[in-house]
Amino acid sequence: MNIKGISLVAGMGGDPELVTNDVYGAMGFSGLSAEAYIIGSAYVNRDSYMVNQAVQVATNWVGFICEDLQWSLTRPYHSRVGCGEKARMGALLKQKLALMAIAELLSMAVCQGCQGSGEVKNRRHRPCGGTGKATLRDVDRAEFCDIKYNTWLMTWQLRYRTIQAMMTEWVNEFTAHLEEKC
Ligand SMILES: [Zn+2]
Repeated sequence: MNIKGISLVAGMGGDPELVTNDVYGAMGFSGLSAEAYIIGSAYVNRDSYMVNQAVQVATNWVGFICEDLQWSLTRPYHSRVGCGEKARMGALLKQKLALMAIAELLSMAVCQGCQGSGEVKNRRHRPCGGTGKATLRDVDRAEFCDIKYNTWLMTWQLRYRTIQAMMTEWVNEFTAHLEEKC
């Protein structure tokens, strides 16, 4: 799957249940939530298996928070399509929000101008400040989620920040746990 400016190495799939309390408990991560372990590991190790798991965990959590806070996943598509299609797009939106949050968290967005090298003709690429990374603009996020830009700004921008904040919190929890061990 591709987001404008983002190529995800890892696809979707896999089963987060494979990483159980027992497993990470044995690895010395007891006391850490499964979410923090999986998202934190993906962030620190960039291992494609863990990235897959992280997308799954994030998708589950987005589903949970949408239900909990009554964020309608289908409303952005109300006026546009029939019932079945609306449900399908709503389910897809959950996955897209999660995928985007993980991709942005892991800075997987590659600057298109320099293809991630940070340089063009041996000179620092100015648009990305030489980092080789691209940050998504809200207009890109809206487009990826197939939500009208105005609707994104009014409703989903803040919700997406909430999702991003949770991902960051899990990474912080994980790295704090690692530091404790060292
Ligand atoms: Zn660049």
